[in-house]
Amino acid sequence: MLQNLVRKNIQNLKAYSSARDEFTGSEGIFLDANENPFGTLNRYPDSHQKELKSALSDLKNVPTKNIFIGNGSDEIIDLLFRVFCNPGQDKALTFLPTYGMYDVSAGINDVELLTISLDENFQIDVEKTAPFLEKEEIKLIFICSPNNPTGNVLNAENIRFLLDNFSGIVVIDEAYIDFSETTSWVEMIEKHPNLVVSQTFSKAWGLAAARVGVAYAKEEIIYYLNKVKPPYNVSQLNQAAALKALKNREQFEQNVVIILKEKQRLIDAFSKMKSVKKIYPSDANFILIEVENAPDLYEKLVVEKVIVRNRHSLVKNALRITVGTAEENEKLIETLKNLADS
Ligand code: PMP
Repeated sequence: MLQNLVRKNIQNLKAYSSARDEFTGSEGIFLDANENPFGTLNRYPDSHQKELKSALSDLKNVPTKNIFIGNGSDEIIDLLFRVFCNPGQDKALTFLPTYGMYDVSAGINDVELLTISLDENFQIDVEKTAPFLEKEEIKLIFICSPNNPTGNVLNAENIRFLLDNFSGIVVIDEAYIDFSETTSWVEMIEKHPNLVVSQTFSKAWGLAAARVGVAYAKEEIIYYLNKVKPPYNVSQLNQAAALKALKNREQFEQNVVIILKEKQRLIDAFSKMKSVKKIYPSDANFILIEVENAPDLYEKLVVEKVIVRNRHSLVKNALRITVGTAEENEKLIETLKNLADS
């Protein structure tokens, strides 16, 4: 059944077989891949990222066959379009406001991205969405939870409705899940064969520079992602960085605690500022606030060398502020007070 969702050319594609796919031992004289025999980064990395998958499998309690590693989760978004959407023909669906790469990736792949507005609490409007679930040309639905840029978790009941009533693929982007108390959807991949959960090392794991994203799904979906990815999509440096982070879980946990504490401090400070009209609830490492004139305040902050994200085009007069170090947050608070609250 899932196979019918996959583009015909991808079904029929003969995946690239790398030299290391044919011989899997680690000992020997390797004269098979036109590598340079000298140096430290001279060999191609493990194209199956076995060690990293095994460490993730232990952490998440998910078999390695259900794990895919991407060059950031942005690569995963792109690969999903490539596997499931015929360019110029199939469509995808998402809920606004949300992460901009679904739209960009759709555009690159010549796929129309249909959009439905989230309701006033930034939740999925099931009634509005239901008719879209019948449309056969829609192959992918992207749900971002916690949502970027709003920060809130999307209601599980609504997501379950989509999973149960849509025959295409439902992608839940959990880039910010480690900052939230909510249960991840990863544990539901067995129950829902059309579910892909994507996570990343870029946020709570602190490895945005390394570019490592992870998708969890049923084996058949993972099979097609592997078929379409470039053979060596995740460099040895990326893999090593992610493995090192996983081995240092205490650091990860400590950092998350500090970020959440700092987030609360920012919220407390914002709530005392007259210039902050609204603080949207956040389950992520950023806070969306409404101010009097977001584009103007954004520019003024830039002059003071405090860079936040102007999200006015998505949510009226909204600024999205990432939680920084205590010192950075202090500077932000002081600058905001001076610029807008005096
Ligand atoms: N999904 C969401 C919701 C994001 O906000 C981001 C990064 N801003 C990404 C995915 C991309 O993350 P990565 O660094 O893993 O490509």
